[in-house]
Amino acid sequence: MGFAERIRNGLLVSCQYSAGDAFESPESAARFAKAAQDGGACGIRANGRADIAAIAAATGLPVIGIRKRKMEDGRILITPSLEEARELAEAGAAAVALDCTRRGQSFGALARVAAIRKELGVPVLADIATMEEAVAAEQAGADMVLSTMRGYTLETAAVKQFQPEFIAQLRRAVRAPVIAEGMIASPSQAGEAMRAGAWAVIVGTAITRPHELTRGFVQCVQWAAGEKLRLFAAVDLGATNTKFGLVDGEGQVIWSSVKATPAKSGREALLDHLSDVVERCQREAQALKRVPAAAGIAVSGWADPATGRIAFATSAMPGWTGAAVAEFVGASTGLPVIVENDARAAAAGERAFGAARQVRDFVCLTLGTGVGGGVFVNGRSVTGAAALGSAIGHIVVQPDGEQCVCGSRGCLEAYVNLEAVLRSAMPEHYDSGRDLVSAANQARSGAVKAVERMAAYLAIACQSLIHVLDPELIVLAGGLAQDNALLLKTLQERLDATVFARGQRRTRIAASRLGYQAGLIGAAALARDC
Ligand SMILES: [Zn+2]
Repeated sequence: MGFAERIRNGLLVSCQYSAGDAFESPESAARFAKAAQDGGACGIRANGRADIAAIAAATGLPVIGIRKRKMEDGRILITPSLEEARELAEAGAAAVALDCTRRGQSFGALARVAAIRKELGVPVLADIATMEEAVAAEQAGADMVLSTMRGYTLETAAVKQFQPEFIAQLRRAVRAPVIAEGMIASPSQAGEAMRAGAWAVIVGTAITRPHELTRGFVQCVQWAAGEKLRLFAAVDLGATNTKFGLVDGEGQVIWSSVKATPAKSGREALLDHLSDVVERCQREAQALKRVPAAAGIAVSGWADPATGRIAFATSAMPGWTGAAVAEFVGASTGLPVIVENDARAAAAGERAFGAARQVRDFVCLTLGTGVGGGVFVNGRSVTGAAALGSAIGHIVVQPDGEQCVCGSRGCLEAYVNLEAVLRSAMPEHYDSGRDLVSAANQARSGAVKAVERMAAYLAIACQSLIHVLDPELIVLAGGLAQDNALLLKTLQERLDATVFARGQRRTRIAASRLGYQAGLIGAAALARDC
């Protein structure tokens, strides 16, 4: 069988090394070639007669021989003379390759193609970088063209990765078989090369250069480690208080503080307030000899993370609707700024650092003064067309029920807001959600009744959410969900009894792991990914 048939539709491995390599010897090259053969390679490309002889003896595979030599212009040229080609053939090379690029042609490559064929009787393979070079090499008599030099010549220096479309172009331009070589970094790229019309594929570095492979892994590990060390300014703007702080790339709060929110003072005062607290974060970072990479701002209104504006705010914050928060705070602090609704930010925090780590489909409910919601579908936060989505608090759980702050009646939030929950424990009296939850954990009947009532309303909303979204997880966050095992258990039981096809579903219920700083951590998660 001829050389072309032996390598057709196969993978060849280029077994070469640089000076100073740990594998710098013909014996090492032959061992790599033997390993390649064991893996199914149908041929080898190798440099110099010693390596070619060692590889041919060890494997019996056809070897494409080359001879690299430094020329008077200071750069390497592949097989620059007929004498060197003769040595390769005598050492056992089944074919000889030479540089037929424009530079190679300036050293007489095209005449050499014809001379090698005539004198040595082996197939001649042209290493090229452009279509014109391929056509010229074929006209000069080359048996095959190889894309080896693409990206490695002056004319093609802009090419930084393997281009299957170049293989397809070569196929259209020349009759000779086209071999894909150069910058093929993965098995899938080798497959693409074949689909683009390659006769065979040659891979080198990605198989036979362990130090290059190691360097690629090291870079990715170091990059990810650097991400963990980054620092973010995080702000949680509530109607009463603003929490702000520094959070690292692993979701750890490094420093935090609280300041009253000037909720009624209008847009400008609120924007100045946000700039002030972010600048305070920058000063704290400076004291640690660090610089925040970005700022995340979670707000208790509807924000559009795509535009950085407030999409809708209630009369609790007059003038706030439409405020260009990201633009203003970005200009005054010099940081990239992302703005998001606080509950959707909390969901992002759960996904980045908390109970929903790496979960693609989940729902997060924040149970505090009001009820907030965040929904992730297929790994993306559901913000909606006007950034008003994921408003789980306004799912109706009681037709013509209690008046809700949104103007409608019977919303989940009308029943599960902090004040309503505390009231439903009567005649027992509690000052905070934390007190009520701890009393429920001690089986005080009013507190237990209040938590069970909460679970009943949540179950109605969650049942619908599960039927629509089929989530993997429902996370309960916020003050009323903290340490509240009774709430989780009662909700679980109700859903087990009511949800359609419950046994086939994977929906779990879990408590937030971010605790009382979920808003800050969520804001940092958004900043991290912005
Ligand atoms: Zn409502």
